[in-house]
Order: sequence, then C-alpha cells, then structure tokens
Amino acid sequence: MNILVMNAGSSSLKCGLYVSGEARPLWQALVDWTHRAGVAEVKIEALGAVRREALPLDANDLPQARARVIAHVLRSLWHCDNKVIDGPHVVDRVGHRVVHGGQSYHHPVRITSAVKADIQQLASLAPVHNPANLEGIEIAEQVLGGDIPHIAVFDTAFHSQMPPEAAFYALPREWSAHGIRRYGFHGISHQYCAQRVAQLWQRNLADLRLITCHLGNGCSLAAIRDGHSIDTTMGFTPLDGLMMGTRSGSVDPGILIHLLREGHTAEQLDRALNKQSGLLGVSGVASDFRGVLAAMAAGDANAKLAVDMFIHRLNAGIGAMLMGLGGLDALVFTAGIGENSALVRAQVCEQMTFLGIKLNATANQSNPLDADIASPDSTVRVFVIHTQEDWAIAQACGL
Ligand code: AMP
Repeated sequence: MNILVMNAGSSSLKCGLYVSGEARPLWQALVDWTHRAGVAEVKIEALGAVRREALPLDANDLPQARARVIAHVLRSLWHCDNKVIDGPHVVDRVGHRVVHGGQSYHHPVRITSAVKADIQQLASLAPVHNPANLEGIEIAEQVLGGDIPHIAVFDTAFHSQMPPEAAFYALPREWSAHGIRRYGFHGISHQYCAQRVAQLWQRNLADLRLITCHLGNGCSLAAIRDGHSIDTTMGFTPLDGLMMGTRSGSVDPGILIHLLREGHTAEQLDRALNKQSGLLGVSGVASDFRGVLAAMAAGDANAKLAVDMFIHRLNAGIGAMLMGLGGLDALVFTAGIGENSALVRAQVCEQMTFLGIKLNATANQSNPLDADIASPDSTVRVFVIHTQEDWAIAQACGL
C-alpha cells in the first residue's frame, strides 16, 4: 500500500509518499509559496537525491498559478529518476490534512462532494487553513484522478469527544448553538504522541493518563484519558491557550473590547494577536525560541521575560490539565521546542517535583527522541516524542 500525504497550508505545501512499514517517506516535496515574492520555491527529495526549482507564480492569477505548481510537483512523483516510483498507479490512497472538521467529523473520512462542501463551509471557522486544504484536495483529485480514494484527516477530530464542561465556553447558550465552542487543534500530533508513548512503554493507551505538550511555533496541551483528549488549551481558534511564537495565547477578552472602543479595527487586532504577539511581541527579538534563548543568554531582559512567561503559562496550563485528569502517568514533550529544549523540560519538571516527578538530567540533556527521560524512581514518566504528523496521517489512511 502506497499513501500520498498532502498537507496544504496557506504559506506552504508539504507532500510525502509513504509505503507500508516505513515511517520515512520514499518521496517528498515542499513548496514554499511566500518566501520569495512571485516565485514558488520547490524542493523535491526522492531516495536521497534532492532537486530544487523556482517556478513563477503569477500574482494576477494566483489560484491557477498554484494549481500548475502543485500539478507539476505531483507529476514529478512518477517522472523522478528512480526505479521504485514509476507511474501514477504508485498512489493507492491520498491522505489530506484538514485543519477544521467542526463538530461532525470525529474520524478520517473518504472525501466526497458533500465532505468538500462541509470543509468549505467550515472555512468561516478556519479562514486561513480550510480553503488551502480544499485547494490541495481539488488539485490532487484533478491530477491523480477521483478513482483513488482521497481521505480527509482532521486536526480537530481527536478533541471531538471532549466532555461538554471542557468543550463549551461560559457564554450565552445561543452562541454555542452557532458553533462558538472549543474545538482544539494539533489533534493529529497529540494522538500520534499518545499512541507512540503507549507503544514504547508497552502499555495499553486506554489505561494511561497523559498530558501531551506540543510546543512548536504553535503550542498546545492535551489531557488524554481512555485514549481520548478530554481537554486541550487551544479553543475556537488556534489562538487560544499557551503563549506561542507570534500568537498571544489566552488574554483577557476585556482587552479586545477596550481596544475596539479605542478605535482599533478587527483586522488590526487579528494581526497583533496572531502575528505580533507571543515570544516575538514580548521579546521584540524573535518568534523563534532559539533566537529568544540566544538573546536571553546575551543579557536581553525582554528575551528573558518572554522565556519566563512562556514557561509560566505552560506550567499553568499543565496544572489545569492535571486537575482534569485527576492524576498523571506520563508527561510528554513534542514539536520543535518540546523535542529540543532541555531547559524547558527541566523547568517544567522542576515545578512538578512536589508530585514526585524526577528527571534524569543526563537523559534530558542528551537530545533524546522517542525516549523516557524520567529517573527510575520518578512517580510520573516523562517522554520526548518526535512528532510525525504526516506519517500519522498515512497510518490513519490505512497504512
Ligand atoms: P516546529 O513548529 O515544531 O517546527 O518548532 C519550531 C520551534 O522550535 C521554533 O521556536 C524553534 O526555535 C524551536 N526549536 C527548534 N530547535 C530548537 C532547539 N534546539 N532548542 C530550542 N528550541 C528549538
């Protein structure tokens, strides 16, 4: 079974061809739409060889220009110079990451025109992501044909069984009837990490209480019990919850009311909260955690405040998840910061010492991946898991 995974976002398109039994894609392509104006930067890797191309993007006809680039990339699947990939028949199924599945989609589904209409309708809740996901689906259908099953795997699905007390905001009842509720995101990553922990630990996932910390440019936590997410920090949008690279995370909504009354527009608030806040906003230096750490090491007080706030907010979120779970078997770190920052892991676990959590300091410092870094006498295990969302999508599609 060969599964093509497509992750079509607003600023980039990632695709990979996965074959049975292999966690690494046999062929993968990355298109960056925004790095250079008027150009799509394409990088294609197949069996160790890398090819880079710069293709023109006509700004006056962007949808068509992007469609041509995606079609070109997908065709390279069977035009690439090797014996393993040699024809369109190489793809048995296509798995598409879809960010927002609303309240109806709890599992991956085969894409039909009704599913596409739902994804389109849900664009009002995910205006940046769902239209890009849908564009990827439609172009892949055109290039690869509709006979191959195309499957949507939703980032919200893992959180779709959260209990009502976690899923709803304390807002007027009729608002929730209009879809204003907590959906949660990063679900593919949280679910993958939970399953990987159970596999590494040789335990039944249904018996474990886990907190998964997805700490990348976007950050979220999930509280996992009986194999399901029962609470998460992201909400109606991926802006809620933890402090992130450029996103504020939760703020007092009264601030927004105040700023609106002061004459700020919705677009200005959107840009400030999504693009100019978080690590970047507080440090004034970088949205990239490494950049903020470097500035802190050089004595920059704002960078230090940003790191301290990041950890404070993270600890506050973990505390909330902990109470919902009523105990904890393992704390799990993943994504760029979670996988690579020994400092963040150490500072979080330090705060949890009173619970009997003990890190193995050497293991924590040794670039662990898919490993338990707690000391043997820790009451709670601590795992670092390399998240593999595209591989998880391939598995969700039956690999
Ligand atoms: P992601 O969105 O998962 O690619 O994660 C991106 C974030 O991970 C950025 O803030 C990076 O600075 C951060 N990151 C990557 N490597 C490291 C590292 N070695 N130490 C600290 N943060 C890192």
